[in-house]
Amino acid sequence: MNRRYRKTIIAGNWKMNKTATEGKALLDELKQTIARVKWCEVVVCVPFVDIPMAIRALKDTRIAVGAQNLHQEQSGAYTGEVSASMLKDLGVKYVIIGHSERRQYFGETDSTVNKKIHVALEAGLHPIVCVGETLEQRESGITAELITMQVKAALAGVPAEKIRSIVIAYEPIWAIGTCKTATAEQANEVCELIRATIRKIYGARAARAVTIQYGGSMNAKNAQELLAQPDVDGGLIGGASLKAPDFTTIVEAANQ
Ligand code: PEP
Repeated sequence: MNRRYRKTIIAGNWKMNKTATEGKALLDELKQTIARVKWCEVVVCVPFVDIPMAIRALKDTRIAVGAQNLHQEQSGAYTGEVSASMLKDLGVKYVIIGHSERRQYFGETDSTVNKKIHVALEAGLHPIVCVGETLEQRESGITAELITMQVKAALAGVPAEKIRSIVIAYEPIWAIGTCKTATAEQANEVCELIRATIRKIYGARAARAVTIQYGGSMNAKNAQELLAQPDVDGGLIGGASLKAPDFTTIVEAANQ
């Protein structure tokens, strides 16, 4: 973390978990436990149908609401989809884009990720853009090239004045939901590489200001070590965001 130059952000990704009733109970607990958080921004990325409940439950708190996806067009005949302006209108602040589960199960590509970033920014949302390599790619030694390419493709055409609105989440696919966390050094190495890529495109000041999270089995036990790394500015948390005590411990580690 480096709070002098950029925000620390802890975002929970509930994935397809929690009905609105269950989610409200979790948020009521979190409101008690993380009410005093000052030094980091906390976000809960909830299922679409939980968003109105979350916005109501978190009104007058410091916890922001995020979505887990959006459609790349602004409106139109896309049955079952949700647009950036619909999310903005509800009071959503962040939106996860290009999560590896979306890429793996729903055919998202670097090109759709790029389009989604553009519509999100136009609507005034903050994209949390996920990039990451498979185990096979890591073992073949192509992590650096792959991540650099994913970041460049995601940011294509994003103007310099918008880059600070974007959060990048480095999520090695082999670490998501597997209980296999990247070591703090591995996480920092790739987060640093992402910052270097942004620096080449947008310059040093912009690169210094962008929040880069780590995600992949971050939990109450390993959060402190991961967040102590200079280029790891927060976490995108799946499983551990579903339990108030675990998520609270991670937020506390980021708030130190
Ligand atoms: C995620 O879904 O982005 C994630 C990091 O999941 P988990 O923390 O469960 O590995």
